[in-house]
Amino acid sequence: MKVNDERVTCEICDAPTNLDDALFDEQAEVYFCDNGCFEDWADDNFHDIVEQYKELHVYAG
Ligand SMILES: [Zn+2]
Repeated sequence: MKVNDERVTCEICDAPTNLDDALFDEQAEVYFCDNGCFEDWADDNFHDIVEQYKELHVYAG
């Protein structure tokens, strides 16, 4: 079996991370080494995330 050893770089801490272990945000197209870095990123991008959530899930009654 072929091992995928492709490396990606964490958006937050710049850690090189195995592609198989990394988290990928398909919207922002960035990688994170773990959930903690994703949460840091989410804090920094809170406004964008709220806007996007609103577009997708929030309707005027
Ligand atoms: Zn990281």
